[in-house]
Amino acid sequence: MLVQKNVPLQAFNTFHILAKAHALARISNVTDVQTLLATPEWAQMQKFVLGGGSNVVLTGDVKPLVLKVEVMGRRCVGETAKAFIVEAGGGENWHEFVAWTLAQGYLGLENLALIPGTVGAAPVQNIGAYGVELQDRFDSLDAIDLRTGVVFTLNAAQCAFGYRDSIFKHTSASDVLAGHQALGLKDRALILRVRFALPKPWKPVLGYADIDKKVAAYGGSQPTAQQVFDWVCEIRQAKLPNPEVLGNAGSFFKNPTVTAEQCADIIARDPKVVHYVLADGSVKLAAGWLIDSCGWRGKSVGQAGVYEKQALVLVNRGAINGPDGATGGEVMTLAKAIQTSVYERFGILLEIEPVVI
Ligand SMILES: Cc1cc2nc3c(=O)[nH]c(=O)nc-3n(C[C@H](O)[C@H](O)[C@H](O)COP(=O)(O)OP(=O)(O)OC[C@H]3O[C@@H](n4cnc5c(N)ncnc54)[C@H](O)[C@@H]3O)c2cc1C
Repeated sequence: MLVQKNVPLQAFNTFHILAKAHALARISNVTDVQTLLATPEWAQMQKFVLGGGSNVVLTGDVKPLVLKVEVMGRRCVGETAKAFIVEAGGGENWHEFVAWTLAQGYLGLENLALIPGTVGAAPVQNIGAYGVELQDRFDSLDAIDLRTGVVFTLNAAQCAFGYRDSIFKHTSASDVLAGHQALGLKDRALILRVRFALPKPWKPVLGYADIDKKVAAYGGSQPTAQQVFDWVCEIRQAKLPNPEVLGNAGSFFKNPTVTAEQCADIIARDPKVVHYVLADGSVKLAAGWLIDSCGWRGKSVGQAGVYEKQALVLVNRGAINGPDGATGGEVMTLAKAIQTSVYERFGILLEIEPVVI
């Protein structure tokens, strides 16, 4: 394993922001991490774990040692009466892994097709789409402690999954949801392998308008997992910019949750607000709608812009491999301006979804 210095990161982040890593190591296995930790030059240095770079905003050159996860492999490791237990290396491409599970007859990840990034990053923000979140199919994971080199295993409860959230996004006990593991693992753990419990028997997760339209067009009978996979790919390709063409990090803000009273107050001022009532009575608001109604769609700061077809997505208007694209500073200036105007109009502070470094 080789540590490279001054490594360009433009191709390693889907926003295609120009930045360098002062030092970058490619991690293929546990020994690579343990070797680094045994080397005084690298052992004490702060670390930043990088997967596919599809959920990060680089605001400058990255000073911590970048650990690019390239742990590979996928296999079925067991079977219970209710599920196949399927494992994948943290460096596996998420979408290719989903496609592979379907080809093997392990069903249940199809709603999460075409999400960019790696398997190892999927638990970090508990990825979700079209009614399924990673936690619904999660079994356990193996990670390595970046201070001690010790490998440990976590189950779902220990990962403290929440909406686009987990123990891997928090640094300290006070920061983590009450009742879960006492210590946050942000920048402390590198996820080596993730195991999924893929249900038997399988049934489709429907109920999302876009998918239900496809079901109706197909004739209304129960679709196969492959059909759901294909429809999700079609819907996503029509709605979201392809990061290989237009740099972006997907949804830039989380959908905010408010109380029923707060929602009633917003509806009184703006009856068209897009909202979904959750099981506990709280209400999720569509962040894209809030941004859109503040007039941001299509606007720009420098080369950072709000995507014309979906205001929730911020894009880099520069060429993906060119020298004059958006800087991280432009992206964050635009994001902060959006946060301010949504706050001033609706009293809601939008939370940024990608990791800002
Ligand atoms: C077009 C587009 C659409 C998207 N759609 C969705 C969507 O529908 N739903 C959704 O949830 N997300 C979505 N995303 C966001 C993104 O794809 C996911 O968050 C994805 O899981 C990030 O994976 P990554 O490998 O690129 O992680 P990176 O961006 O490299 O890293 C993200 C975070 O995870 C940490 N990390 C990465 N790998 C590891 C590891 N092995 N161990 C420990 N920590 C690690 C990093 O340190 C960082 O904090 C979308 C992004 C894009 C660009």
